[in-house]
Amino acid sequence: MKTFDFIRQVLQDTISILYPSLCAACDEFLLQGEDVICTHCMVNLPRTYFHRMPDNPVAKQFWGKVRLEGATALFHFHKGEKVQTLMHRLKYNNRPEIGNKLGAVCATEIMKSDPFNQIDYIIPIPLHKKKQKIRGYNQAYCFAQGMSDIYGKEVLKDGLRRVKFTDTQTRKNRFDRHKNVKMVFRVSKPDRFIGKKVMIVDDVLTTGSTLAACIQLFNNIEGTKVVVATIAYAE
Ligand SMILES: [Zn+2]
Repeated sequence: MKTFDFIRQVLQDTISILYPSLCAACDEFLLQGEDVICTHCMVNLPRTYFHRMPDNPVAKQFWGKVRLEGATALFHFHKGEKVQTLMHRLKYNNRPEIGNKLGAVCATEIMKSDPFNQIDYIIPIPLHKKKQKIRGYNQAYCFAQGMSDIYGKEVLKDGLRRVKFTDTQTRKNRFDRHKNVKMVFRVSKPDRFIGKKVMIVDDVLTTGSTLAACIQLFNNIEGTKVVVATIAYAE
C-alpha cells in the first residue's frame, strides 16, 4: 500500500470511528462497504417485485384512466415500519442520499425487465416550489438521479413543470372574491418525447391521481410510451 493510500485509509477509519455512519433504516452502524442502508435491511426491506407482475396493484390504479406500459414500486409501505422511517428521513431530515441509494437499488432490480428496459428519459414529478425551498431538494429527483446512475439515461428535471392555473368559473360573491388558483402540470418541450419511452418517478404512490394527471399529458404526445416507478406503494 502506498504511503498516501495508507494515510487516507487511517484518516477514513479514524473519521468513521469518531463519526460512525448509521443505517438510515435501522440506525445500526454501517460496516465497511455498506452505504446508506445496511445489508441486513437491504435483504429484509419489503420488496414488491411488482415489475415481474403486469397486473400488479400499482398498475391497476391506472387501468381505465391512462395508457401506460407498466408500473412498479420498489417497496411496500406500512406505517411504523422501516420503509416509513426511510421515507420520512428522505423527505424531512435532509437526507437526499437515501433517494439516490433507493433509485440505484430500484434501477438494478428492474432495468432488465420488460417494459422497464430501453427507456429514453427519467422524469421526476416536480415538487411544489414552496416545499422544495423549505426542503432544499425534490426527493423524487434524488430517486431519479439514483436510477439514472444505473440506467445511464438522462434525468429531465424540467420534463414536467408545475404551473399556476386560474379557474375562470370562480364565483365572485362577497364571501369568495379570491380567484381559484390551482397548480397543474405541463410537459415542457413536448416534441422531444415523440416516439420515446419515458419513466415517470415519484416517492410514495397513494391515490395515484398526481401520477395519472402526468401520464395523461404524455399520452397526448404522439407515440410516447410511459412506465412508472415509485419508491413505495401504500396499500
Ligand atoms: Zn439497517
